[in-house]
Amino acid sequence: MYRHLVYIEKNILNDNATKRVLDKINPQEIVIIDHYKEVLNQTNSHWHFNKKYQKIILAKRESEFYYKGSFLTSSLGYRHFYYNTLALNCIFHCEYCYLQGMYNTPHLVLFLNNQDFIRATKTLIKQHNDKIYLALSYDTDLLALEHYYPYCQEWIDFAQKEKKLQIEIRTKSHQVDRLNQIKPTDNVVLSFTLSPESIQEQYEPLTPKLDQRIDAVQKAIQRGFKVMLCFDPMIYVSDFKRIYKDFFDKVFSKIQPNSIDSVSIGVFRMNNDFLKRIRKNGNRSDLYFYTYEVKNSIATYSEDIKKQMLLFVSDELKKRNIFRIHIL
Ligand code: SF4
Repeated sequence: MYRHLVYIEKNILNDNATKRVLDKINPQEIVIIDHYKEVLNQTNSHWHFNKKYQKIILAKRESEFYYKGSFLTSSLGYRHFYYNTLALNCIFHCEYCYLQGMYNTPHLVLFLNNQDFIRATKTLIKQHNDKIYLALSYDTDLLALEHYYPYCQEWIDFAQKEKKLQIEIRTKSHQVDRLNQIKPTDNVVLSFTLSPESIQEQYEPLTPKLDQRIDAVQKAIQRGFKVMLCFDPMIYVSDFKRIYKDFFDKVFSKIQPNSIDSVSIGVFRMNNDFLKRIRKNGNRSDLYFYTYEVKNSIATYSEDIKKQMLLFVSDELKKRNIFRIHIL
């Protein structure tokens, strides 16, 4: 993250939230802009070069405070599945992440009018008779941004009062201590994505190590948070079965299976247009040299490989007495 320069939309320049975030970043230079898209959507920019000098854009979302959920993600059995985008782009850089194909640049947009998102969600809840499911950490990793703005804290606080709302905060961050001041509530699930060490090193280079993430899971459980483990996306590497079996041995030697709420599993998949764009942007990861099958514009492994992976992993989880498995 290149914190020397921050872009700020002129309409929020004097807001208290802006001042608080600026105090934390302490940039040497501020560039005032009309709208975050001027920077985020710059054309003719080199994505990977910009990632090295990833900048922060402070902005205000004017509309689209939530979206209907995508079929590429888990709705955990809820009929009313939504997600919102409190920030765009991520401080991490997972090779398999669709964000590289979604925006022209990797610059991080933080929307500081979080309370407008919360107000819009209140209205949405009123429109439904039954519970709605809202994924918060979408198009970003929200917990990793908590030191800039207390998004997770404000939403958990909101969820305490809105029992018709089920929130999921998915993360690879280990910064769970940032939530020490907030009381856990049953309708918020912290979903920790874990990957085997070799996968983490090769495909998730900027993320915390597996041991740090396991440690974060343990802390979250001890604090009383409802926790889900996500093994998603699983990558089809040679020796897949041995790597994932050793990984589950390690994870569940440290995390009691009965202390987690559920597990979510899925294999690598991506919108084919994003995949093409990522290849064009020059990502040299072997992930982008694999021949995927494309169905309904989604690139993923062949049915046969996908079945093998999901079956193997489901069996391994069941052997460890984990039966609440969400499969994607
Ligand atoms: S942590 Fe999630 S959002 Fe961030 S780069 Fe990795 S996959 Fe993408």
